[in-house]
Amino acid sequence: MQSAWKEALHLIQIVERHGYQAYIVGGAVRDWLLAKNSADIDIVTSARPEELGRVFSKTFQMNTAHQTVIVRSNGHLFEVTTLRGATIEDDLCCRDLTINSIALTADETVLDPAGGREDLKLGRLRSIDPESRMTEDPLRMLRVYRFASQLGFAIDEELQKVIHCNKERIRETAVERITKEWLKLLKGPARTAALAELRQSGLHHALAGLAVTDDQLEALAKLPGFEEEASEELVWTAFFLCRGETEVNLGSLALSKASARAIRKRLSYFQLRREAAWSAYELYRASLEVARDVERLRSWFGYSHETDETLQAIWDGLVLKQKSDLAISGHDLLQKGRKPGPWLKKELEWAERAVLSGRLPNDHRQIIAALEERRETE
Ligand code: ATP
Ligand code: MG
Repeated sequence: MQSAWKEALHLIQIVERHGYQAYIVGGAVRDWLLAKNSADIDIVTSARPEELGRVFSKTFQMNTAHQTVIVRSNGHLFEVTTLRGATIEDDLCCRDLTINSIALTADETVLDPAGGREDLKLGRLRSIDPESRMTEDPLRMLRVYRFASQLGFAIDEELQKVIHCNKERIRETAVERITKEWLKLLKGPARTAALAELRQSGLHHALAGLAVTDDQLEALAKLPGFEEEASEELVWTAFFLCRGETEVNLGSLALSKASARAIRKRLSYFQLRREAAWSAYELYRASLEVARDVERLRSWFGYSHETDETLQAIWDGLVLKQKSDLAISGHDLLQKGRKPGPWLKKELEWAERAVLSGRLPNDHRQIIAALEERRETE
């Protein structure tokens, strides 16, 4: 992060040398003032995207409504956006919260026309002209609770009132934008307090794709804290379990296919684990990572659970860890003119089960012989 920060300051100096203004803005400055690490460093400039193209050799135009260019500098990537308005002050004034409306110059001078530093000190989420700010882009209302959860800040009273009166407007917001903020809210260390505030506002009833009830919010509030590195899939799975769902319709959340698959897998092994301990075969099928998540979820929901160490020990003892470890392959079974079909998958699974349970050694000839015998008796 430190090297990214240095690089960002260096980058704005270069832009300034070409006669434009440039500043670090938004979350990066907020986190810097809080002495926290920031995921990304956003930069604004008076230069237009095509002008930036002349300053830097490596730029990529972003396909968004904003005039944003990605600049690559010494291995770091920065989003550089053209100022909205004539001055940096105009740009800062149209941002969501005062704590996100602070800019920093190349010589680390702080520009803070909205009084964001004062709110950082007070631990307060506030907006200048909240009515306009929240209604221009209703997602900002959810961002308020997201920041409450991440920072443990209190929400200014006027802002709360504005959200209460305008909550229905968030229905127009795209589900992809909602889910990003929702995940950050769920992962925040002050989630319990933030969800209590959210419940007061009633905003949760209007979230596209989510539609959470009061009871579900309460269940979510009771979960222990997620670790920083908890995966998106794990957080989503916990969310669905709080909603009491094991068969989920993930279509409404516009998640990627890979995420949807990963969530379904966790939910189905969570169900399986309710009925029995991990067998060698199920652990092999699930993967160690999924099994760990399932055990984590079990502990959060108050069930007996295996520790990472126990799971690791069972895993280390597995004869097979991946499909390619089996001494035969689908290719071997397709010899002698046999045609592919559902039988192939069944036979491979039978062999995996037999080897993993210790009924058969992982030996090519012996597996082939056992399968032939099995075919004869069927
Ligand atoms: P994070 O630490 O999660 O990246 P962030 O505050 O940097 O938090 P981003 O979504 O990266 O959030 O946005 C960067 C900055 O852009 C914000 O700090 C804020 O100034 C501004 N911003 C982002 N989204 C909005 C929005 N919907 N409305 C107004 N300003 C926004
Ligand atoms: Mg950011």
